[in-house]
Parts: sequence; C-alpha cells; structure tokens
Amino acid sequence: MAKIYEIYGTDAHSMTLSLLRAAHVSKQIPEGASIALKPNLVLSGTPETGATTHPGVLSGCIEYLQEAGFTDISVIESSWIGDRTEKAMKVCGYDKVCAQYGVPFYDLKKDRTRTVATPMRNMEITCRALDADFLIDLPVLKGHCQTAMTCALKNLKGCLPDAEKRRFHADGLMEPIAALGAVLKPSLVIVDSICGDLNFEEGGNPIQTNRMLLGTDPVQIDAYGCRLMGLQIDDVPYIRIAERWGAGSTEIGADDIITLNAPTDGMGYPPASGLVKKLTKSVRADRACSACYAALVRALYLAQKEGISVPNEIFIGQGWRGKTMSGLGIGKCCTGASDCVKGCPPSPDAILDRF
Ligand code: SF4
Repeated sequence: MAKIYEIYGTDAHSMTLSLLRAAHVSKQIPEGASIALKPNLVLSGTPETGATTHPGVLSGCIEYLQEAGFTDISVIESSWIGDRTEKAMKVCGYDKVCAQYGVPFYDLKKDRTRTVATPMRNMEITCRALDADFLIDLPVLKGHCQTAMTCALKNLKGCLPDAEKRRFHADGLMEPIAALGAVLKPSLVIVDSICGDLNFEEGGNPIQTNRMLLGTDPVQIDAYGCRLMGLQIDDVPYIRIAERWGAGSTEIGADDIITLNAPTDGMGYPPASGLVKKLTKSVRADRACSACYAALVRALYLAQKEGISVPNEIFIGQGWRGKTMSGLGIGKCCTGASDCVKGCPPSPDAILDRF
C-alpha cells in the first residue's frame, strides 16, 4: 500500500519542501522527465479564502525539483467555467512564483486536446496534462456543494477544456471524475489543507486546519481526506468508482500515515455541517455545472444570512433545457421556468436579486 506523509504548520513553502524530502521524491522521477504541476486555481481567489492552492506549495515544489536537477518544469491549470485562468494565477500570486523560478505557466483553456478512451467513454483531455512524464497534482482539501468534498481526483478536472467540463456535469460528475482519474493517474499528490473551505469549493469560509499531505495514490489520498473531514467514503461516490476502475486503492493501513511533526492545538477538522444540504432544500438540480450551482448556493447562503426568503421551487442544470417549469430557473439552461435568472453561469448577486 502507498504511504501518506503528513505535516502540520502554516508555512506552505517549507512544509512542501519537508514533505518532498521526507518522501525522497526525486528518486521516483526519471532523469530528464517533463514535470507538470497542477494546482487548484478554480477561480480568482487567494488561498486565504479557502479555495486555491497556496503559491508556497508551488514554490516549494519548484525549488525542490530544481535543486534535484530537473529543468523541464511547468505549471498547468484551467479555472472553472466563468473565470479566467490568467486572472486567477495573478490573484493567487503564481505569476511572481513562475517569474522567480523561470518556470512557464500554461492556461489549459488554450491548450490542444486529444480524445482518450476511459473506462466510461471517450474524453477530450488537454495535451499538456496527458504528455507530462510526471504529473504532480496539488489540490486543496475542501468541501464541494455537489460532491461533498474535493481533493486529488476532482482537481484533475482542471485538465479539461471547458466543453468537456460541461459534459462532466451533464453526465452527473461522479463517473467522469473517476474515469479521468483512471486515465490521468498523477504520479504524486501534495494536498494543501492549511485553510480549505469545508463547505464551498469557491471558498469564503476558510477553516484553519494547518496541515499538508503527500502521497502517490489519489484514491487513497481522497479516502484519507474523507476521514479528516468526517465523511464516509461512500458520501463521495466517485472515490469507490475510481478504485473499481484502477485509479488507486481506498485502503489505509495502520502504518501508512507517516507524520513528520506533532500537531498543536486547534488543528482538528470540525464535524461536517450539512450546511449545503439545508440550504438547497428547495433546489431541483439536474446536471448543473459547478460554477452555476456554487453561485446558487452562495446566493442561498447570503439570503439566509440576510433573512431573505427564497422561492419554493428553484431549477438549475442542463437537464432542464427545453422544459417548462413553474418556479425560478437559474441560468440559460432554465429559460423554460416561469421566472429565470439569465447567464451562463449567473452571478450570486444576480440570483440573490431575484429572491
Ligand atoms: S446555465 Fe449553468 S448549468 Fe447551464 S450550461 Fe451554463 S453554467 Fe452550466
């Protein structure tokens, strides 16, 4: 079974260096390999919001790899539908890290793609992700309004063109995420769990948990992420599907967690709040894109905070295209609703205005 290295602290750069050195990662990388670092830059938000990978994780990785003699290093990512990767990389400080170390950043929204057979169906995947000799997955451990949690496997979705991301949602997310993990199989995963938002993928309510992880099996890492967040593995269906399709193993043996330092007080994960479930009682979602659903959940959250009542029936998702519904529709897929917030995706403010 693979090992997971765990470290506590708040300095992402030095924690990353310590993890890589402890795991002797340079010995696992073939000489002259092209190495692609895939962080989570889902949107234009700083790591302190609990949404994006800390630039210190990136700088720690690059410094370690360059010291070990590797020169073909790049950073690859595409933000979610509705945000610009280039803006997100600047907001997050990646432009400075890349300039400091002389490493290129590639916006995968502009990359070429290839059709790849997966255990589920053919998929369009970006060439830079497919062609890296050694793909390093750098997710944030955080909550997600549709999949309960997101970490190693789901972070790979940023290796897709936007059209394929939309198709993932049309296919219900779980099987496509698992299938992508089975074909992309990152060689290494380093998890930023310093201050993820445990409810919302897009951040806003960060929880300081001051921890980072390193492993080689994305399925095992996700299973451990569930344990940390107080979730059952079955609460996140794509994990077991990915295991079935050969992406890794959910097994975590007693000796598989190697802790590099002692935790201090206040670094635990609070119990799962069930907040998203409560907020979305009146929502009828059918194959909604992440950015759209997240905007709706954010609007519902703000409405609850401000004491604004919400419609009894809210429709969202690609599955409502061409149908007639009585209630509030969210986005261009739901123009058949009796009232509709236009956009693709609409903003949380635009949705809130219609409550
Ligand atoms: S309206 Fe929303 S669900 Fe429909 S395609 Fe646009 S982002 Fe996706």
